[in-house]
Amino acid sequence: MIFEVGRVNVREAFHDASAIHDGKKRGEHYLFASGLHSMVFLDGENVHEISPTVSSGLTRRLMETVDDRGISFDLIVGVANGGIVIAHDFSKHLATMTERGVLPVVTAQKNGTGHYIRRVALDLVMSKDVLIVDDILTAGTSVRRTAQVYPQAGGNPIALAVWWNRGKPISKLEDMEVIALYEEELPTLTREECAERGPCSRKVKLVHGGG
Ligand SMILES: [Zn+2]
Repeated sequence: MIFEVGRVNVREAFHDASAIHDGKKRGEHYLFASGLHSMVFLDGENVHEISPTVSSGLTRRLMETVDDRGISFDLIVGVANGGIVIAHDFSKHLATMTERGVLPVVTAQKNGTGHYIRRVALDLVMSKDVLIVDDILTAGTSVRRTAQVYPQAGGNPIALAVWWNRGKPISKLEDMEVIALYEEELPTLTREECAERGPCSRKVKLVHGGG
């Protein structure tokens, strides 16, 4: 499903910000948090950096899509790194364009391969219904790790909202409803598949992609 944002859709926004990294042109391929390999890396941070207004426009459309679904939540969590800017923009758009008021924003910080929230922010999360936001959804590994933090902190992850689901189209992840502004599956390989018939079998350099 493609939602237009003014004249800019998600794919165009990424293309215009040079945020679709083609490993073929760069002589490399990408490793994700899930352990999957791919020739394509979507770099949402490029969109934030090159086109802050486009980034904000995409997030506004994401907020409207979540709002239209009537999903109730009282805290927004941005998954580091790409989800941080989205979480803040989301909260501002929600406050200015709906009756829902200002909601707090917490960052799920990166810690090696895991995520954590700062101890002072744990009080904010306590007994709150949480909306998690991120730029890209691949296999959901980063989001699952993030969501695991909240029950321990007394919070309840309700839904996940992303700009681009590049994995299999899904409507649920764990118990969370999944809302994607744009869905286009991009090929990935497991480590074993890649070693057998993918770029790894041709000794193409492997570099870290995002989440
Ligand atoms: Zn590989």
